Amino acid sequence: MKRSLIALGLSNTHLVSLSGGLCVDPDTAAAFEALIHRAADAGFDLRGLSAFRNYDRQNQIMNGKWLGDRPVTDAEGGVLERGSQPDIAWRDAILRFSALPGTSRHHWGTDLDVWDAAAVSEDYVPSLSPSEYEVCGPFADMTHWLDERIAADDAEGFFKPYSADYGGVAPEAWHISYRPVAALYEGLATPAMLLPLWQGKPDAMGVSHHPLAMLSVVESQAEALLERFVTITGSLQ
Ligand SMILES: [Zn+2]
Repeated sequence: MKRSLIALGLSNTHLVSLSGGLCVDPDTAAAFEALIHRAADAGFDLRGLSAFRNYDRQNQIMNGKWLGDRPVTDAEGGVLERGSQPDIAWRDAILRFSALPGTSRHHWGTDLDVWDAAAVSEDYVPSLSPSEYEVCGPFADMTHWLDERIAADDAEGFFKPYSADYGGVAPEAWHISYRPVAALYEGLATPAMLLPLWQGKPDAMGVSHHPLAMLSVVESQAEALLERFVTITGSLQ
């Protein structure tokens, strides 16, 4: 049961704190520290911007976007207007950049969003936009270095699950995942586990969560949505 609770973002008892306050899985923490040292030798100050995020936090983000309390952005960070878009189109615009609660890789403590503090001024706040990581962006050199390490299977066990666009989640050059532990949780979340949570029913620990605001547009298509937005098609697993 413990493993499925972690997969769904319903447990944080397995985590440790990184310097800087981020929470991660212990093995991931050790591997990330090793990667930081390797990056430092290459002239980069590799840092995590976000790591573990629990079910309730992810649910709050998604509900905020669906209900219009949080901006929904495109790949360039531009704010999208709901306008007269049908519910389904608005749902897909949100799902391209945000995971349904219970399906985020950030639930596991194995995944981090990273940036290079050596490439920018001290007061710079990373926005995790593609332009920062592309050629001529401040984090382009770090991205090139890290991608080379990953391609050579020499990145302390990390890989990029969203390295290319397969029509579901948009590419995220900043998102790295510690494969040895993440592999334990991939594919565990099923519609049968997720739907009761999204409906606001108590979880396996008896804790209730806010219902998912976009429930009406995901309920009947949960299987297909997981296939499109959660399963990583085409990557070297
Ligand atoms: Zn991420």
